Amino acid sequence: MERKIRKTALVTGASRGIGRAIAIELARTGFDVMINYASNDAAAEQARAEAMAASGDREAHIACYRGDVSSATDREALLAAMLERFGRLDLLVNNAGVAPEARVDLLEASESSFDRLIGINLKGPYFLTQAAARWMIEQRNSAKDDDYQPAIVNITSISAYTASPERGDYCVAKAGLAMMTKLYAARLASEGINVYEIRPGVIATEMTSGVKEKYDRLIADGLTPIKRWGLPEDVGRAVAAIASGNLPFSTGEVINVDGGFHLRRL
Ligand code: NAP
Repeated sequence: MERKIRKTALVTGASRGIGRAIAIELARTGFDVMINYASNDAAAEQARAEAMAASGDREAHIACYRGDVSSATDREALLAAMLERFGRLDLLVNNAGVAPEARVDLLEASESSFDRLIGINLKGPYFLTQAAARWMIEQRNSAKDDDYQPAIVNITSISAYTASPERGDYCVAKAGLAMMTKLYAARLASEGINVYEIRPGVIATEMTSGVKEKYDRLIADGLTPIKRWGLPEDVGRAVAAIASGNLPFSTGEVINVDGGFHLRRL
């Protein structure tokens, strides 16, 4: 019996936090998922087990691949692993990202922190998207599947437009990633590839655990119209909505998953 074509997703930085929730939601909706991560094998295995369970499918294909998105060699190996394991790519989710190692005033911040942030949060996704898009175009041209409707999702942040002078490098990288979404959306529309930006607000993950009390206070004081922390699942569900293919005439779109943080209020 011929096996039904399964859609596949590559989610970077998916061993923990938002990426893990994205991987789990995609598995739940029937995707085969490659969980990329940088260093923590045990966390990646745990994410894989949770995605397998969410898929409810004993045949579900969920794989892990260790690789640093800021490294050209690792990016190439990651896509090669995707090809070898699943043979196709329907959805790339550029989620991997880091916060600065320390929050430091703009006038004191180091060049090494800037290089690290730009490398992982902007250069990595920029060139991973370039390589993934070339592969998607090849797949489209080989026309093995009439329903092939590839997409790319970039996980940016409210920091793409909110100035935090104690982590300027992070803000600059996220603003760049937002522009990258527009660039690839404009370039890839004619290739049948839609590109989306998801802009999370304050989400409860390890990244924000060090500033929990500060944000607890700000949220209680009305930082966001929806008065709660965002959950990784909130972002996972937004990615799954895009992955459903129900936004075929929208590209370069920004989806705020921020409890309404972006609204100007008076
Ligand atoms: P997190 O809990 O710190 O998880 C980060 C994930 O990225 C981990 O799986 C980590 O893998 C992986 N990673 C780190 N460096 C990597 C690299 N060089 N190559 C590949 N993977 C790498 O972070 P998060 O809060 O879930 O954030 C995920 C994304 O959402 C980031 O882009 C972040 O900027 C963005 N975001 C977060 C928030 C928030 O409030 N949390 C808000 C807006 C946007 P290892 O564990 O193996 O290192």
